[in-house]
Amino acid sequence: MNSIVERLKEVRCQIENACQQCNRSPDSVQLLAVSKTKPATAIRQLYQAGQRAFGENYLQEALTKQQELSDLEAICWHFIGPIQSNKTRDIAAHFDWVQSIDRAKIARRLNEQRTAELQPLQVLIQVNIDDESSKSGVGPEQVADLAKYISDLPQLTLRGLMTIPAAASSAEAQAESFASMQRLYSALASQYPTVDTLSMGMSNDLASAIAAGSTMVRVGTSLFGAREKT
Ligand SMILES: *Cc1c(COP(=O)(O)O)cnc(C)c1O
Repeated sequence: MNSIVERLKEVRCQIENACQQCNRSPDSVQLLAVSKTKPATAIRQLYQAGQRAFGENYLQEALTKQQELSDLEAICWHFIGPIQSNKTRDIAAHFDWVQSIDRAKIARRLNEQRTAELQPLQVLIQVNIDDESSKSGVGPEQVADLAKYISDLPQLTLRGLMTIPAAASSAEAQAESFASMQRLYSALASQYPTVDTLSMGMSNDLASAIAAGSTMVRVGTSLFGAREKT
């Protein structure tokens, strides 16, 4: 048995166990395979094992791999990295989801550049929940305004929120950040019927994110192995 396929099974098991611990259905948490810096061949192996959603952070790298994998019809591409305005045209044309929207200007450009023959782009607002200067994302107090702005754009569908919390100083601090995200997400979901996705949790904090209500975990290292430092 191929090791990457074994790792996929292990990660699915971790998700199921975490769901069981908090009485959630395992179907309520999706797995996004974060394939940045990893080759198209590894993505193809996971696809063949049933994985459909893949997350990429760097546009040029993603476009190259998408070309190599253009025969995989049901693959679903999520852009999860910081977005510069000069990249929005290619992102609008080549992705199904964008999880890292952090300002109105980016939303407006993606809306203008997402052509009408494509389904609307499925988008998440990235929240900088721990107010770190090194991370992109809006502050919690800016979520409502940006959500309102996005909800009026026809070529974008607002699906929810994404966060990358600070490297936890303590389990309590981490739980507090996740709980804050869950409150923001619940408020948003009660206002917008299209909102159904809270993207939080990575290789190291997947179980606590699921306990706090995550509906999508983004896993790189546990599936593909460690990344080379760039
Ligand atoms: C790289 C990355 C991940 C995956 O992190 P791992 O710790 O390797 O699982 C998840 N989300 C985002 C936004 C990333 O950039």
